[in-house]
Amino acid sequence: MPRKISNGKHLVKRQVPLREFGDRESLSVFDNALHQVEKAAVILKLTPNQIAVIKEPRRIFEVNLPVRMDDGSIQIFRGYRVQHSNARGPAKGGVRYHPDVNLDEIKALALLMTFKCAVVGIPMGGGKGGIVVDPRKLSIKELERLSRRYFAELIEIFGPNRDIPAPDVNTNPQIMAWFMDTYSMHHRDYLPAVVTGKPLELGGSAGRNAATAQGMVYCVRKAAVHLKIDLKKASVAVQGFGNAGSWAAKLLRQDGSKIIAISDIGGAFSNPKGIDPDGAIAHVQKYGTLKGFDKIPGVSKIADPMKLLELPVDILIPAALENQITGKNASRVKARIIAECANGPLTPEADTILNKKMVFIIPDILCNAGGVTVSYFEWVQNNMGFYWPEKMVLENLEHIMNGAFDTVLGASIEHKIPMRIAAFVVAIQRVSKAAELRGLYA
Ligand code: NAD
Repeated sequence: MPRKISNGKHLVKRQVPLREFGDRESLSVFDNALHQVEKAAVILKLTPNQIAVIKEPRRIFEVNLPVRMDDGSIQIFRGYRVQHSNARGPAKGGVRYHPDVNLDEIKALALLMTFKCAVVGIPMGGGKGGIVVDPRKLSIKELERLSRRYFAELIEIFGPNRDIPAPDVNTNPQIMAWFMDTYSMHHRDYLPAVVTGKPLELGGSAGRNAATAQGMVYCVRKAAVHLKIDLKKASVAVQGFGNAGSWAAKLLRQDGSKIIAISDIGGAFSNPKGIDPDGAIAHVQKYGTLKGFDKIPGVSKIADPMKLLELPVDILIPAALENQITGKNASRVKARIIAECANGPLTPEADTILNKKMVFIIPDILCNAGGVTVSYFEWVQNNMGFYWPEKMVLENLEHIMNGAFDTVLGASIEHKIPMRIAAFVVAIQRVSKAAELRGLYA
């Protein structure tokens, strides 16, 4: 049988982008996050040592994964796992499969997970992992062997009380099932709490699919009350129509708001009388993207999709990419609320401009934390062996998101700072206090 040893570098140059946002959700988000951490640290009067403990990842793992390909050759894939902080609990965060995965990106995303968990007060730290691979170039069996090898190679660092991975870019419930099975086989036990985002049949949680958008909706409802906006009369534009964006449109429509524009890689579309999110979801299911959605009566195509961000709407929901609103277009944004479903959709320059314009920004680490919160519920249910109906998941999610929103708004008012810095203040205070109590500054 032919044998071929490869370092996997040939996979780096891919023909077609996997997910438009995945390959750019990287260092700039890290730099932006560090910028916010530093601003919050000044307000909290942290010492340089405290800041260093908060910024630096606790543990970094890099592995080379030999995988038998279907043609009999062996290929080596590079994998990473970063545990940024376990001060408040086990590391928590997704594993992404992408040709552009690199250690700096994984470090950045692990740091953001620490603060995301802290801002919503779930007892977990931050972690992130990744494999340098274009999964679409692998057969299902190759993908399974790679996933199992990754988990087996790092088996001692994972665990229900150590580090709990979840899906991220290009990973899914099936891959989580392989992770869980690998871990359970190794320990001669049934240990579903080692990963979240599993299929329902293997201990996944009800309500996970809509969780990120649902968490955002709880925040938007609170923001609307604070700003005296009637959601039943509110207009909404959503950039990105994948998991987060399509659920966002669907749920806000259920609250009575009018979705006047949506977009994805297939283009941007508007209808001043309102778009039916279910019709748009059906279109994407049939054709893959929103391309051609302007065939629906009343819907027109927005020639420059970026102009969706500048529409005169009450609520703007970036749910696609990072760095979409920048110093260049922020002054033209007319929304009253920006709810960040995506990670890092605004640059610091945009933040400054929009803060001056008094736009109410619900920052990503708060706004999209519904996903990790329901992941935490999955872990709780696995540990209890008691599974909640969806109603109970939603009630608990609402309770946590409402509490987190109120705390961040309270910090924003108390310190006279924007919601984003306030979210970091709340999160860093919690991580820092836990680190101090555990003696990490000793
Ligand atoms: P997804 O892959 O399901 O959807 C991404 C969407 O963005 C797709 O509709 C894609 O066509 C669209 N898109 C890509 N490039 C675009 C462009 N230039 N203009 C307009 N649309 C574009 O991803 P998702 O899970 O919905 O995640 C979206 C964002 O939300 C990401 O930033 C992600 O990190 C963040 N997020 C998601 C979750 C979750 O649970 N899904 C949780 C936290 C944060």
